[in-house]
Amino acid sequence: MIQITSLTTLGLTALLFFVAVFGRYVLFSLVFDWLFTGSTAEQPTGRPIQERQRKPDQQWREIGWSALTSLIFAAIGLGVMVAYQAGATRIYTDVQAYGWLWYIVSIGLVLFTQETYYYWLHRWMHRPGVYRWIHKVHHDSLTTSPWTAFSFHPTESTLQALLLPALTFVLPLHSTAICLILIIMTVSGAINHLNTEVYPHAFDRHWLGRWLIGATHHSLHHSQFRYNYGLYFTWWDKWMKTESPDFQRLFAEKSRKKTSR
Ligand SMILES: [Zn+2]
Ligand SMILES: [Zn+2]
Repeated sequence: MIQITSLTTLGLTALLFFVAVFGRYVLFSLVFDWLFTGSTAEQPTGRPIQERQRKPDQQWREIGWSALTSLIFAAIGLGVMVAYQAGATRIYTDVQAYGWLWYIVSIGLVLFTQETYYYWLHRWMHRPGVYRWIHKVHHDSLTTSPWTAFSFHPTESTLQALLLPALTFVLPLHSTAICLILIIMTVSGAINHLNTEVYPHAFDRHWLGRWLIGATHHSLHHSQFRYNYGLYFTWWDKWMKTESPDFQRLFAEKSRKKTSR
């Protein structure tokens, strides 16, 4: 690990963080794009969820906003690194310090907190006065793709990115648990914006599947605006009755049936 002791090491770490965040976005988007969002005929289900064509310049616009998002994530990550090296955070590196049970519970706790924070932040961002200034950038992508995953206005990126660093000051979090959470965030963002349903048929009624957000669920958020505000899980949408009434029908239509092909 680089010890940040001078402006040079600070600059170097900042650059490394940006390359890691933006590189991770590009890598996951390329892989998911290649795997799932080729021509309609090449798609595993043969059906894009939202059939409207993406705008010609949409991908580059999304990559531009995502680069800006990556800069913000990197800057905040750098701040956490400086705080960690100053001994101000509760990040630890020896698993035995708190044991494996806490390791797993801490990840679950962070995901639940992120879900709750994001659901309510997201609902607030849909208020008319706020939407135009903060959240519209993300919704300019009506037909999404993995490239949409980081396409946010800088204010939204900052609001989203503040929670995890804040938690490192409160909860003991292992450094690799933080890496895992960052990977979950990236994979989930890519899957939710795929515009191709990858979950199996009837997964929306499965004991676990019914709680997970996927491509159909989030695609409906982009096309209907006032439903499906969740991030990883459907809890809040179900509890607050903001899940789209069209979700089950569309999921049945777009998910792969076992008997087909
Ligand atoms: Zn939204
Ligand atoms: Zn989205």
